[in-house]
Amino acid sequence: MQRDLVGYGRNVPRIQWPGGAKIAVSLVVNYEEGAEYSIADGDSHHETNSEVPSPVPAGDRDLNNESFFEYGSRVGVWRLLNMFDKYKVNSTFFCCALALERNPDVASEVVKRGHEVCGHGYRWEEYHLMVEEDERDAIRKTVASLQQTTGQRPVGWFTRYGPSLNTRHLVAEEGGFIYDSAGLNDDLPYYDSVNGKPWLVVPYSMETNDARFWRGGLVSISGFYEYLKDTFDCLYEEGQTHPKMMSVGLHCRIAGRPARSRAVERFLQYAQSFEGVWFARRDEIARWWLENYPAP
Ligand SMILES: [Zn+2]
Repeated sequence: MQRDLVGYGRNVPRIQWPGGAKIAVSLVVNYEEGAEYSIADGDSHHETNSEVPSPVPAGDRDLNNESFFEYGSRVGVWRLLNMFDKYKVNSTFFCCALALERNPDVASEVVKRGHEVCGHGYRWEEYHLMVEEDERDAIRKTVASLQQTTGQRPVGWFTRYGPSLNTRHLVAEEGGFIYDSAGLNDDLPYYDSVNGKPWLVVPYSMETNDARFWRGGLVSISGFYEYLKDTFDCLYEEGQTHPKMMSVGLHCRIAGRPARSRAVERFLQYAQSFEGVWFARRDEIARWWLENYPAP
């Protein structure tokens, strides 16, 4: 994996989005509840990502934290799905396969309501620590399970935790995938090279992301809204000549909570008050890019 510190640089391409949109907004919902680390599932430690610090020893079940996660799959996901219906926007679901196996109703509803199913690993395993063979198996197991639960074959991939040095070429070689989102380094899709062939990266964001409520010191609802709004304002302004994309990362257990969902709703209202805003699934962005901006 070569680093690219230059990218488009000052030669940002003057691209066009469908309908002449000035910005593409990619809403991403991470669907992971039930796939996190769990003593009950045989892990050596309980999940440590949490709403509040855990008082429970690592080797014991932390029932409060299990409960925080359950809120996401029981309540939060439905609040977000209903909100997206209300504003008629489609999103991409980064899906941990095991989480959907444990909530089949969500699996079918995500597809029925027009959202994209993107591979996010089977469960919270640390792919960056795996040998190549194990990671290949984990990716295949994820795809097979998602096909089973959602009826959809994911065409995109984003590894939970971190990608390994092998992830990109494994995903590219697997066949069936057209993009990955393992790039936090641009406001536009771009091509990387895998085995001498072009490979499309649709970048994601960890900063316009509700994860910062749990890790990253974000507390205020208006703070989250302002962050999204200012990101949108900047990219929309730049988009008058050079259209770009904006990612919004959400989690059912975090943004699915009532107060935080209001920040997302206010952002949708705000963005929809502008002309030329394309709320797009990542597979739509990928297909548009591959068709209109093929690699040289
Ligand atoms: Zn995630």
